[in-house]
Amino acid sequence: MRFDIITIFPEMFVNIFNGGVVQKALQKGLLEVHVHNLRDYTTDKHLQVDDRPFGGEEGMVFKPEPIYAAVEAIRTSPKAPVYLLSPQGRLFDGRWAAEMAGREQVILVCGRYEGVDERIAEGLADDELSIGDYVLTGGELPAMVVVDAAARFVPGVVGKAASVRHDSFVDGRLDYPHYTRPREFRGLKVPAVLFSGDHKKIEAWRRKKALDKTASRRPDLLAQRALSPEERRILAQITKERNES
Ligand code: SAM
Repeated sequence: MRFDIITIFPEMFVNIFNGGVVQKALQKGLLEVHVHNLRDYTTDKHLQVDDRPFGGEEGMVFKPEPIYAAVEAIRTSPKAPVYLLSPQGRLFDGRWAAEMAGREQVILVCGRYEGVDERIAEGLADDELSIGDYVLTGGELPAMVVVDAAARFVPGVVGKAASVRHDSFVDGRLDYPHYTRPREFRGLKVPAVLFSGDHKKIEAWRRKKALDKTASRRPDLLAQRALSPEERRILAQITKERNES
């Protein structure tokens, strides 16, 4: 799969994917990230990408023409979706990341200043994507977040596909707690079940811990999906234990 990112600050991307599984995926050709300078798609001698907003307000707004020209020039797949990074967009989540990973090409447009002429959202972008309810200075960090999150779902990028399956959000719940050596650190002990060698017990412990964490920290995740009879039973047990302690 390939990402094409349109930005006025391509230099911000120079080192960001130089490490970890994303770098390996790029080296193996499982993933491609192409960064394009929006100014290369301007037609005037000042390479102007922005202008003052109509209606008289502070700040500058990205003009539509260079963005349309950039998207039209870099699109290699006719079905490639175009996403405008915007705090006004729909909230980007794991489901969206997984869906993107199945695409041949995804084009991301990074805004700056006051934002982007609304005709990008109206006539060019398939959707607007937000990475959270806060305003950043530009769309570059959100684009990096989107690429990194989607890359984990590209087959072969994360060593064992199973480790993605246990990740937070994949099944509408948070991940279970992880421990490594030493068995005891500053009085904090690793739960004994993890070195019991009983894989059934370990699985059951992990399922319970994951549900417990989700119910206390992110009950909204559980409210959004149907619970299996086993999950209902575990949650009832957790509630009982909490009431008793
Ligand atoms: N005036 C805009 C508003 O209040 O909605 C904010 C513009 S922001 C300063 C400049 C650019 O940063 C946006 O065009 C967008 O590309 C990017 N950006 C800022 N916050 C973002 C977020 N939470 N998610 C995605 N993109 C964001």
